[in-house]
Amino acid sequence: MAKDYYSILGVAKTATPEEIKSAFRKKAHQHHPDKSGGNAEKFKELNEAYQVLGNPEKRKTYDQFGSEAFSQGAGFGAGGGQGGFNWSDFSRQSGFGASGFRNQDFNISDLGEIFGDFFGGGRSSTRQRTHGEDLEAGITISLQDAVFGAEKVLELTKEITCDHCQGNGAEPGVKINTCKTCKGSGQVTISQATFFGNFRSVAACPDCNGEGQVPEKKCIVCGGRGFKRGVETIKVKVPAGISSGETLKLSGKGGAAERGLRPGDLYINIKVLPHPLFKRSGDNLLTVKNISFSRAALGDKVDVETLDGQVSLKIPAGTPGGQQFSIKGKGVVKLHGHGRGDLLVEVKVIIPNNLSRSQKKLLEDLAKEGL
Ligand SMILES: [Zn+2]
Ligand SMILES: [Zn+2]
Repeated sequence: MAKDYYSILGVAKTATPEEIKSAFRKKAHQHHPDKSGGNAEKFKELNEAYQVLGNPEKRKTYDQFGSEAFSQGAGFGAGGGQGGFNWSDFSRQSGFGASGFRNQDFNISDLGEIFGDFFGGGRSSTRQRTHGEDLEAGITISLQDAVFGAEKVLELTKEITCDHCQGNGAEPGVKINTCKTCKGSGQVTISQATFFGNFRSVAACPDCNGEGQVPEKKCIVCGGRGFKRGVETIKVKVPAGISSGETLKLSGKGGAAERGLRPGDLYINIKVLPHPLFKRSGDNLLTVKNISFSRAALGDKVDVETLDGQVSLKIPAGTPGGQQFSIKGKGVVKLHGHGRGDLLVEVKVIIPNNLSRSQKKLLEDLAKEGL
């Protein structure tokens, strides 16, 4: 039976990969069978839809042939079971051993990330965090900054490394003991009942975060976590040539985490303000220069504004309105590569109105000449 994977995920046919992923995530959380009100059938259907639409190649095939292309025996998928469930990927990524659900249609690269809440978080104390929180922030910059690059300063309220204990969670000067929970090994074995059966997995010890050691007295400021809420001033180097809508990733500038774990990353969304004179088109800038029709007919040298200051542009005699001139190297600095784009100047010929009496007389004379 043909299925509409787009409507299952509730996205448009034109949805971006990001939109598809986020729609899947939302719905998968909503319908996960472990949740109250969860629905195993719906959950399975969501996975099936995402397995196809989340993969650019499969999505193309689906757009062309529909879901039939992915039904059993049609020759797609990774072989074995139905529809190409790739168990080895799943078990490797989520850290669980194989059990008996080979017939399910799971093949999701970021399963671990998406279901971390369900598989890793049966009890909050066993929740496995590998790093601090990833954060997102926005910066609005001028076109000038986008063209030439800039350094911006951002003040973010987030989890920061505790300055009292330098992030190690110990009250300065106290003794450090072997962790009693894991006896210094840093690891604990977790047995968990889940929707798919019982799983045993080895995880970092929650009491020492895998370090095997705990301080005799925890830091009085952060309670031993190694981080606290605070403000951090972050310098952001905006590279020349960046465009609106692009995202910069600052590794390790997200939220600080428990001792032993690396901090999260910071993603900065760039927004470039419109400029009154210049419009961007790739590496080029576009601008419009108004000239009188007599200058267009006779030719002239005109001053043109660029982001580098004024330059002189020669307008040849007989230039029609709409003609474009290119000023080399006055465009955008190329983000990936060398040099700069050009400034494209479109000439707009202004037809005068509100003529003075003498101007009108001159134009009438021109008209008599057939112009
Ligand atoms: Zn501290
Ligand atoms: Zn421990």
